[in-house]
Amino acid sequence: MKKVIVIGAGPAGISASYMLSKNNVKVEIFEASPYVGGMSRSFNLWGQTVDLGPHRFFSKEPKVNQFFNEVLKDDYTNVSRLTRIYYNKRFFDYPLKLFNVFKNLSISTIVSVLYYYIKQQIIPIKNPRSFEDWVTNRFGKKLYGIFFKNYTEKLWGIPGSKIDADWAAQRIKGLSLIEAVINSIRGNKNNKHKTLVDQFKYPNGGTGSLYNKALEHIESHGGVIYMEQPISKLIINNNVCKGVVTKDGEEHYADYVISSMPITKLIKGIDITPKDILDTAKKLYFRNTILVYLEINDEHLFDDNWIYIHAPNVKHGRITNFRNWAPSLNKDKKSTILCMEFWAFDNDDIWKAEDEYLASIAEQELKEIKLISADEKIENVQVKRVPKCYPVYETGYKEHLQIIENYLNSIDNLIPIGRYGAFKYNNQDHSILMGILAGENICYNSNINLWDINTDTDYQEDGEVKDVLIQ
Ligand SMILES: Cc1cc2nc3c(=O)[nH]c(=O)nc-3n(C[C@H](O)[C@H](O)[C@H](O)COP(=O)(O)OP(=O)(O)OC[C@H]3O[C@@H](n4cnc5c(N)ncnc54)[C@H](O)[C@@H]3O)c2cc1C
Repeated sequence: MKKVIVIGAGPAGISASYMLSKNNVKVEIFEASPYVGGMSRSFNLWGQTVDLGPHRFFSKEPKVNQFFNEVLKDDYTNVSRLTRIYYNKRFFDYPLKLFNVFKNLSISTIVSVLYYYIKQQIIPIKNPRSFEDWVTNRFGKKLYGIFFKNYTEKLWGIPGSKIDADWAAQRIKGLSLIEAVINSIRGNKNNKHKTLVDQFKYPNGGTGSLYNKALEHIESHGGVIYMEQPISKLIINNNVCKGVVTKDGEEHYADYVISSMPITKLIKGIDITPKDILDTAKKLYFRNTILVYLEINDEHLFDDNWIYIHAPNVKHGRITNFRNWAPSLNKDKKSTILCMEFWAFDNDDIWKAEDEYLASIAEQELKEIKLISADEKIENVQVKRVPKCYPVYETGYKEHLQIIENYLNSIDNLIPIGRYGAFKYNNQDHSILMGILAGENICYNSNINLWDINTDTDYQEDGEVKDVLIQ
């Protein structure tokens, strides 16, 4: 019987373990935190269930949907998606709808949008390398400024001209202004573009319940999980990975190690890593998220699942309303829990700020954009910090990542997967797919290149668009 060690109990690690345990492989999972589900976990807050930010699940890949259906059976709700963009003190439907845009923009802005769009189609930027170039080519300079620049730069913390075009290609692939306009008139028939999908499946127990239930299956098939056991080193002999060392110095051996821990830490945990590889790994970096949850004694604040905030005068970038997901989340409570997202690097003041300070800016900004009235009372506030959740696709990152990939590929029986595990801007579905395919590579001796998932779209979504343009 083969034995596999899995580092991390997020979607990637759990789906890999699920697949392996189904195929009679012995699995040992080591999870650094006290929780299962990673960034996709759910938790109890003031008697209700919430996720770490909004977690919409969507995939067209049969293997991913099979995992979802097998684990949850029918314990999910189909949620109708409503999301809007807040820009210039107005709310725009998202996906954009023609008449709604016309209603909300002035005539002079509409003329300017059309002018820059046509100009760009006649004289496009050659070889667009950055997010700004890519989106400008596709939508024109004016629309880039209205619906992309502010939100994207807040999220990534670097100018749009320094974000790799890869990110735009990955997130918006195939969607053009013309198509967005046609869709707004005809509707998104057959869900052709994931960008425009208007319904999604949501687990009744919160996103994280998918992974908790999958763990039950893993354990019932002999799998074992060790919680609060961060892995700090890998055991490598003659370029073959033989096992892991926990932070407490305990050694564990296996035939394969699947890792979903941050790739930068993985590299550091391999004693034989040459200095030039360590230096290259330092060039890959992450962005953190701060989530501020607020409880308000009101059952109906607004209808959206989440709202993108395109406004330079406030620091946050997105607001989720958990009351509008599945009714099972709020457990008959009469209050609403909102979650505001701020983004930061490790050294930013806001990342190091006290919770009280973050709570006060959140309340102030929420009132500034008038999502709640100035005299509305905030009953409770809680702050959560999610480190390393966005691998930053700065222009040039691909060359660095390629060097790291080549190095890790030279070590046998070590399989890096996942969002920070493989430095891919994964959603849950991509991490699940990586996990399942990592398991298949081991069980069936197949040789699927996991690094391609989420960059080579064809495998998972029949060559169709990857995901929402602003997730
Ligand atoms: C605010 C926000 C909103 C999001 N919205 C969506 C959405 O709408 N839809 C969607 O599909 N996805 C969404 N995502 C993305 C989704 O959360 C991730 O794609 C998914 O959780 C990635 O799974 P993973 O297993 O690759 O990584 P993770 O979820 O990060 O799991 C990795 C696990 O490894 C553990 N670990 C780390 N280091 C070690 C170590 N040294 N030893 C042992 N264990 C370790 C961690 O504790 C963690 O449990 C969102 C993410 C965020 C932050």
